[in-house]
Amino acid sequence: MMNVCFRLAQLGVVAGGGWLLVQGFPVLGICVALLACWYWLLDRMANRVVRGNTEPVSEDTSSFHDGCFIADLHADICLWRRDLMRKNRRGHVDLPRLREGNVALQFVTVPTKLVISRRFPRVFFRDLFFWGAFMSLQHPATWFSTSARVRLQLHRLESWIAQSGGAIRLVCSRSQLDELEGCRERNEGVIGVMLGLEGAHVLRGGLDVPWLAGNGFRVVGITHFNDNQFGYSAHGLRRGGLTQAGRKLVQELDSHAITIDLAHASAELIDDVLEMHGQGEISRPLIVSHTGIRGVHDHRRNIADDHAVAIAGTGGLIGISLFAPALPRADLAALGESVSYTVKLLDDAGIEGARHVAIGSDFDGAVRTVVDASGWERIAGELMKPAYGLTPKQVEWIVGANTRNFFADNLPD
Ligand SMILES: [Zn+2]
Repeated sequence: MMNVCFRLAQLGVVAGGGWLLVQGFPVLGICVALLACWYWLLDRMANRVVRGNTEPVSEDTSSFHDGCFIADLHADICLWRRDLMRKNRRGHVDLPRLREGNVALQFVTVPTKLVISRRFPRVFFRDLFFWGAFMSLQHPATWFSTSARVRLQLHRLESWIAQSGGAIRLVCSRSQLDELEGCRERNEGVIGVMLGLEGAHVLRGGLDVPWLAGNGFRVVGITHFNDNQFGYSAHGLRRGGLTQAGRKLVQELDSHAITIDLAHASAELIDDVLEMHGQGEISRPLIVSHTGIRGVHDHRRNIADDHAVAIAGTGGLIGISLFAPALPRADLAALGESVSYTVKLLDDAGIEGARHVAIGSDFDGAVRTVVDASGWERIAGELMKPAYGLTPKQVEWIVGANTRNFFADNLPD
């Protein structure tokens, strides 16, 4: 039904552009007509892949990668209007590319808002997601409402799962993860998806933590690019940690078996959550689903070294991302450097580093990544290079086994 509405809206826009053209407004007519393919252009421009990673992968690497359980902690796949059943030339993820990448478990994370506060005066609609929804001819409810954006992305995920005929399965519980592992061992080609939320600002009105838990969300980031009612963002305008509402939210998420993701959180917010963990107010391990590490690249979207140590110390995961500025440069060697640095950092702190580092690609997160979802073989090949000092077993953990084991321990029954 939504697709029919979209096609009708597209036809309407093209007809409107044509009408303006014949009325003697050629530039305006062409601009209006371009609206019909804006969603395509936006996806293509925003989600790019670094060129030049064409070096052939050795047979040894290829067979090693075939035996790995590949898992990705973070990707914004359902944000985009894209046919996920066929191989696209835009974006980073679709079913054929997940298969090429031998991906076993893929997070589908839901972002809903990005307000540019500094550059635009208040009179403008400053939320980039408004413009994305409007220009992509999405349902008008999603132009303004973050909860409608959550529901739309859930709807896209449900459609993808339904179309896949069993090839894609939602994983919400430990038994579903066990089933997925069984399918992978039997080479049935099934791919598990898990749901995450990027930014808890949506939790108002109709949406609350029980709703998230009931709809399969198993990871929630407190803040995204903006400060919100629960706390402050690493990218926000003011400094601060958790608010009172934020403290309650953290406890409620923990009690609903939802893992707290500290990606994009301010340093003070990370301190507050760690303090709550230290005082036993929450018990579940913490993660940073997609980040870089300050000791390698000092950028505010990256996590400080001592925070990485403290988060791993809760039994958590540090998901290294696949783009600059999470990485110091947008290339595979920069990923290798970041991963090996983080492993060594944790080892030096007395934590077995290779058990706590994972990959959180941020595919389809409006970033230029070093590979797309078909390129996991290259990631494994890079991490196997002797320069990084990682054993094949450790690489296997980092490219997926750590993520699988973490959720095997932390998903509800
Ligand atoms: Zn993000």
